[in-house]
Amino acid sequence: MSGIIGLIGERNAGQKLYAALYALQHRGQDAAGILSYNFSRAQFHLEKDYGLVGDVFKPHRLARLKGSMALGHTRYSLSDGTDQGELQPLVLSYPYGIGMVHDGNVTNYDEIVDFLTHSKHRRPFGFNDLELLLHLTADGLAAGNPAGDLVHNLAVAVRQVQRRARGAYSVVAMLADRGLFAFCDPHGIRPLLIGRKRRENGQTSYCFASEEQAFFGLGFEYWRDMAPGEFAFVDRELHFHASVLEQTASHPCMFEWIYLAGPETQWHGRSVYEVRLRLGELLGRLCQARGFDVDVVAPVPDTSRPAACRLAEVLQVPYREVLIKNRYVQRSFIERQAELRRAIVGLKLAPVVSEIRGRSILLVDDSVVRGTTANRIVALLRQAGAGKIYFASTSPPVRHACFYGIDFPREQELLGNGRTEAQMQEALGVDGLVFLPQEQLFDALGVPSLCMACVSGNYPVPVDADDFLGSRRFQADAPAAGDDADSADSNPSQPPASGADAA
Ligand code: SF4
Repeated sequence: MSGIIGLIGERNAGQKLYAALYALQHRGQDAAGILSYNFSRAQFHLEKDYGLVGDVFKPHRLARLKGSMALGHTRYSLSDGTDQGELQPLVLSYPYGIGMVHDGNVTNYDEIVDFLTHSKHRRPFGFNDLELLLHLTADGLAAGNPAGDLVHNLAVAVRQVQRRARGAYSVVAMLADRGLFAFCDPHGIRPLLIGRKRRENGQTSYCFASEEQAFFGLGFEYWRDMAPGEFAFVDRELHFHASVLEQTASHPCMFEWIYLAGPETQWHGRSVYEVRLRLGELLGRLCQARGFDVDVVAPVPDTSRPAACRLAEVLQVPYREVLIKNRYVQRSFIERQAELRRAIVGLKLAPVVSEIRGRSILLVDDSVVRGTTANRIVALLRQAGAGKIYFASTSPPVRHACFYGIDFPREQELLGNGRTEAQMQEALGVDGLVFLPQEQLFDALGVPSLCMACVSGNYPVPVDADDFLGSRRFQADAPAAGDDADSADSNPSQPPASGADAA
């Protein structure tokens, strides 16, 4: 998951995206980047670095982001790479000059690298799947007739990308001197929304973004979602062109409503906040049926707050905050050091002892993935003197890996993998555990078809887990056979990092 945005038709578009990226910070805290394009000088300007949006863009960096077209990215990393070349946006000079950002994950990474290397004589520089999408787009565009229609050439290039690249990807990109374009994978797994703003001269500026709240600060209004398989292009005269190129059944990620997206946004006509209220209501009825003896209902901050509020109303017991999230502890580059990371994670949630001592507490969370956070919270509450502790999850048990851009690609690490709910309750050390069943979640979302692969095991885009985890991308940090054999740094007693350790 990452936050992506693209804007055309606004003065100082790059600087405006700086503000909009704050609205997408929750989708990625590892790094941030902005690429702007100045039509009058025919110049790109690129600024990107590790860190939060507010840390990366100092005034001198913002001042360089000139032009009326720009792309922005907040990065959520699936690997521990520390190479600046891996950060987005990426730029390729030929053909035209293309800049690109994406959200998602390409699942046939090695296959595309082999295709690019052997059939197209293009060598990807790093281990970033965006680079593959960028090269595939560039290759398709370079093959088009330069005297032909650019929109047609671009659509043909994007269709080739959609046919060759499997997985989940929403992409926003720019073509130097020409305009801004966007496309989605044929299943529409990750969100991409279109916003627009009427200008005083009668023209319309356009913005593509992962979530609706990115439009608010820009003065844009939500127009519509990008459809699965859709391609859209806004030329430099601000004419909008769009068509659906490759579409199969739509499979938006159900976790966007449960956990990933901000509550202010909507997708497929469903408000995230309203969905979370509804999930709380359904969960409340299940807790009632189980006869949980509860003094207070409390959210695990922050995502589950609307669900916990509604659940408390259903049970007619007080809603309380028993855990306070430290807003200043953020995932950051320094947390890549394991010892520091452990220390910092321990500071993230603090118990409100006065609200906990002697009370039976029903904790509401959005999901239980590995169970590490839930375990830590239960230990905190026990230490603070809680009576009984019940746990309610708005998602069904997560039993299967996600290969589409969310950070749990290894099934064996999941608490729900191979465990019954009773065994999960025991592993968490709680007095009662309830999950919203898959059918109720599906009904509550009200979207005709969804990706629910991590709970159902039915993957809309089939993936071989061994191939995926064995891909060169996940092996990037492991020394290849023969490499550094004589190096003073090599330690024969240490095996190379496994894929699991490297990612
Ligand atoms: S597997 Fe789960 S988290 Fe991944 S895209 Fe599908 S629903 Fe979302």
